[in-house]
Amino acid sequence: MSQLDQACESFRILMEQQLLRIENMSAEKVDFTTKKTVTIGLVDGDGIGPIIMSQAVKVLEKLLADEIAAGSVVLKRIEGLTIENRLEKNQPVPTDVLEQIKTCDVLLKGPTTTPMGGKMESANVTLRRELDLYANVRPVAIPEEDIDWMFYRENTEGEYVLGSRGVELPGMAVDFKVTTDAGTRRIARAAFDYARQNGKTRVSIVTKANIMKKTDGKFTAICHEVAADYPEISVDDWYIDIMTANLVNPAIRNQFQVMVMPNLYGDIITDEAAQIQGGVGTAGSANIGDRYAMFEAIHGSAPRMIEDGLGDYANPSSILKAEAMLLRHICRSDTAEKLENALVSCKTVVTGDRNGATCAQFAEEIMRLL
Ligand code: NAD
Repeated sequence: MSQLDQACESFRILMEQQLLRIENMSAEKVDFTTKKTVTIGLVDGDGIGPIIMSQAVKVLEKLLADEIAAGSVVLKRIEGLTIENRLEKNQPVPTDVLEQIKTCDVLLKGPTTTPMGGKMESANVTLRRELDLYANVRPVAIPEEDIDWMFYRENTEGEYVLGSRGVELPGMAVDFKVTTDAGTRRIARAAFDYARQNGKTRVSIVTKANIMKKTDGKFTAICHEVAADYPEISVDDWYIDIMTANLVNPAIRNQFQVMVMPNLYGDIITDEAAQIQGGVGTAGSANIGDRYAMFEAIHGSAPRMIEDGLGDYANPSSILKAEAMLLRHICRSDTAEKLENALVSCKTVVTGDRNGATCAQFAEEIMRLL
């Protein structure tokens, strides 16, 4: 078979697998208001992961002490999602680790390092796909500027679904981007539901539909279809390039409320938004599906902080914000509010270096404020 034929054959297989994925997409939503026992999986990750997670777990144990004692919440430690174990097993998420993760309802996860080069997929991309965590939800707020943004990033499709499965021919490489009707409809619905439930009046769709006509064109069209069911919410379209500029334009940026977008644009623009808020160390994120959900900081494992001996100075506020989102997701809103209020009142400043407080000092202050 010629190389061109081989490439066409692998493309055909990819398309078949994607059609199968669409068939398997629907799942029943878990109702946490009636669930007798909620199991929270705790995964450390790499680099600064174990440092910020150890503080986040202390805070969680304090917040949920009564429920843990009563057995309505179980905290389950899951070992083995480390770069060393993943490389040794040559699996982005080793099978035994994934099995343990699947026994939980929700996960609190530290950042995981993605090996450079090679073929190994990122642990996050694998988890999002395996657990079908289709909505990446990232809030960014700067109250003094009246900024209150909520990003709904599609989390399982776009350039990521086949990110490590592009094809190469001599002198040429091709990657793939996939957008499905069902995948877009569910992220759009999640964004509009959030807007409706939280009194928001505007949802902005962000794509590059002028260039990516098939995939982003579909994304935009389906978001508008879904919007028709939410007549009280206004909807507008933006291209990612100008939206990136809008977020740093003080004249208009506080007018945006909820933004919904395909995977890659969401990945990039939410880091920009987090930086405007005060840095990637300050933003939490939720990866939500119908059956499972995973909560984490938006930043990575910060290997340079570890190399420079600054790991203990990592800012835990990102993972603590994610923890508050987890508590809200499992319908422990009062407990989430306690943590959110403590995060707002906390005067301890972590700068990520020896000029600021340590991760542990920040968490101690939070525990005192709870
Ligand atoms: P990074 O987010 O780890 O670091 C970017 C910058 O932010 C660095 O200067 C770092 O020191 C700083 N920083 C990050 N977290 C901080 C914190 N809590 N407190 C203070 N400063 C903090 O990004 P990177 O260096 O591009 O990625 C490192 C590794 O993490 C890569 O292997 C990447 O693939 C992985 N990663 C994982 C996730 C995840 O697991 N969710 C997300 C992003 C990146």
